[in-house]
Amino acid sequence: MLDAVVVGAGPNGLTAAVELARRGFSVALFEARDTVGGGARTEELTLPGFHHDPCAAAHPLGINSPAFRALPLERYGLEWLHAELPMAHPFLDGSAAVLSRSVAETAASFGPRDAGAYRRLVEPFLPKWDTLARDFMSLPLTALPRDPVTLARFGLVGLPPSAWLTRRFRDEPAKTLFAGLVAHVMAPLTGIGTGAVGLVFALAAHARGWPVARGGSQSISDALAAYLRDLGGSIHTDYEVKRLDDLPPARAYVFDTSPTALARIAGFGDYYAGYKYGPGVFKIDYALDGPVPWTAKEARAAGTVQIGADSAEIGAALRAASREGRAPDRPFMITVQPSVVDPTRAPAGKHVFWAYGHVPNGWTGDLTDAMERQLERFAPGFRDRVLARATAGPAELVARNANYVGGDIAAGATAGLQLLLRPKLTPFPYATPHPAVFICSSATPPGPGVHGMSGHNAAKAVWRRLRQQD
Ligand SMILES: Cc1cc2nc3c(=O)[nH]c(=O)nc-3n(C[C@H](O)[C@H](O)[C@H](O)COP(=O)(O)OP(=O)(O)OC[C@H]3O[C@@H](n4cnc5c(N)ncnc54)[C@H](O)[C@@H]3O)c2cc1C
Repeated sequence: MLDAVVVGAGPNGLTAAVELARRGFSVALFEARDTVGGGARTEELTLPGFHHDPCAAAHPLGINSPAFRALPLERYGLEWLHAELPMAHPFLDGSAAVLSRSVAETAASFGPRDAGAYRRLVEPFLPKWDTLARDFMSLPLTALPRDPVTLARFGLVGLPPSAWLTRRFRDEPAKTLFAGLVAHVMAPLTGIGTGAVGLVFALAAHARGWPVARGGSQSISDALAAYLRDLGGSIHTDYEVKRLDDLPPARAYVFDTSPTALARIAGFGDYYAGYKYGPGVFKIDYALDGPVPWTAKEARAAGTVQIGADSAEIGAALRAASREGRAPDRPFMITVQPSVVDPTRAPAGKHVFWAYGHVPNGWTGDLTDAMERQLERFAPGFRDRVLARATAGPAELVARNANYVGGDIAAGATAGLQLLLRPKLTPFPYATPHPAVFICSSATPPGPGVHGMSGHNAAKAVWRRLRQQD
């Protein structure tokens, strides 16, 4: 009998499998798709030679992940590549706020009235970032935090809504950049804990940047898979699990799936019926004839570029998608331009470009025109550079990956307490009604993103259980 079976080869499933295998447990992993990766994959979606990341592309959480940093992923081919600036947020007048590796450069981009407030916000946490990241990404804690004082201080600043945190800023550049950061996890700006979201992304930029993975996000998944095989784990692709009986006998089963799918597969009835899904996204992958013609020079040098004219426009776009049940006229967009720093992504002189905007869960329309009109405001002439585009709304995202229910790439709403306590209000989020069944997807803390920390935390719950049985 196997020690553990993992279902789903996304970053969390792969990390859970690796963590168990490296502690000597026998592990087999089953994945529905023909390749591993889940939300960390790379495909030639448009034209030959253009390598797109259909899901995650920018990796502030990956490079800062305590789980990934403890694994020898570089030995298995993972290389982080950094653009000159981790992130830029251009404005209509051609200026931009930036997240730079340097606190001083970032603060200066917010203007003289907010530079000091920004420094006072981030500087106390930076020297303690590694310990803070580990404590914060291991919530709810099952052991004492390594640095309870810093974690408590971080909680005081981060637990209130982001709208409170940004009250310390007087001008739009900082307010807008922070509104955009919170929107990365699709959380409402007035939601509890959303201050922490913005702060984590900012601290991550200063600590280690927001890189892309050389060759594409697939290389993160391939590195995890190769390490797992070296540790003796087996991987079975093209294997969609529909019932527990589809799996070989094991002492533990770990699901990198949505809670809804797990309930169906394991027969948990309405155990997760209270779990809510959030807005969806509309994703476009572009093959371009040249770089994006941003007006703001900072945007040309950044790996990630946020698009939203001001905090009010971003707030309106999020409200439209999450509360009003309609697509925004001026979508807030997150864009990534991997080929600015990674020449392997596109033929010489050409570029790949990645963009998404928020839409209601399950929306069936086409956001392409609204997104391109929005892009043209900040990069006039963008449309003339387009060689090909691959679009994916909620239905296509679900077809690619069952975890993105209704196109919700966070695998569950990040509003209210569900941002922090998911998939149930319990101190043991990785456990389920069945003592041998666990859940490790981004529907568990610390939530969405390619960081493997849900897999790491779930694996810890599993190995504790298995060792109790030995
Ligand atoms: C468009 C988009 C953009 C994103 N951008 C970023 C970004 O830039 N940076 C970032 O950090 N994150 C980003 N994310 C989020 C990130 O991809 C996810 O949070 C992350 O991949 C979650 O990892 P996971 O392991 O929990 O689940 P997933 O990566 O979703 O993997 C789940 C896996 O389980 C498999 N599976 C599901 N059900 C079954 C079943 N019944 N049987 C067998 N296998 C099954 C799926 O096929 C999939 O491979 C983005 C996501 C999307 C879609």
